[in-house]
Amino acid sequence: MIMLRFEKLSVKKVYGSVKKVYGSVKKVYGSVKKVYGSVKKVYGSVKKVFGSVKKVYGSVKKVYGSVKKVYGSVKKVYGSVKKVYGSVKKVYGSVKKVYGSVKKVYGSVIKVYGSVKKVYGSVKKVYGSVKKVYGSVKKVYGSVKKVYGSMDTKDTDIKQEPTAPGAEGNDGGFPQNNPAECGICFTLFDDIERRPRTLPCGHTFCTSCLIVLLETKNLTCPSCRVKHRTTTINKIPISYNLEEMVRHQQQMLRQQRQMQRHNKALASLIPSKNANTTEGLLPSNEDTTSKPTSTPCGHHPASE
Ligand SMILES: [Zn+2]
Ligand SMILES: [Zn+2]
Repeated sequence: MIMLRFEKLSVKKVYGSVKKVYGSVKKVYGSVKKVYGSVKKVYGSVKKVFGSVKKVYGSVKKVYGSVKKVYGSVKKVYGSVKKVYGSVKKVYGSVKKVYGSVKKVYGSVIKVYGSVKKVYGSVKKVYGSVKKVYGSVKKVYGSVKKVYGSMDTKDTDIKQEPTAPGAEGNDGGFPQNNPAECGICFTLFDDIERRPRTLPCGHTFCTSCLIVLLETKNLTCPSCRVKHRTTTINKIPISYNLEEMVRHQQQMLRQQRQMQRHNKALASLIPSKNANTTEGLLPSNEDTTSKPTSTPCGHHPASE
């Protein structure tokens, strides 16, 4: 009986203990279960993050591949560029040398320019001095001209009786050697710019010179110093006789020259005693060969 009671008591105690342990374990289990839930949640989050990272890693891997390819291309380009750079460097060296030479030449040119500039300055000064002297001489000339002009105050009318045309000569103290040329410019009269015109005083000058003389207040004849009131060139008559004379004279001259050319051409063709003279065409008394009356080319020598 006691044993049974005792056993009953022991079992009761053990049961209590076990119950307590069970309670504790149950609590622990609850706690662990909670921790497990939390860890599970964390694991899920981490798993998600891992998936995202994996995706990013894939993208980065792809980008890396592309970049690697680009790098390869760039490396090749770099090689080419390096070669080009080498060539450019050589060209640069050559250009640098040329630049050096050009710089030296420029330096020389600049020195020469400086010298020329100095010479120019000196010449400019001399020119200035000469210009001043010229101005002074011009003034003196003007004064002398005025004095000279006022020396002859004798005035004549345009209606003054003209002397016979072509009668001009050395009667007025103005030298005129050749009647075929103007006594002012000593140029032969012609029928264009230098037509001869005779002033009422009888002296003849070329149209060109008379136009210049008309620019002065009173047209003074340079030969006899007589003043004329003529204002326009057309009022001074043209000397047709003189014009005709000059024309005739010029024609004669041309014929003479042509003759000389003929004679020279003949002299070179026919070897004779008179081959070198211009009178080779004219009949010679000493000539024992047949005497030609005209030139072999058929032209008759112009008579004087
Ligand atoms: Zn003239
Ligand atoms: Zn005159």
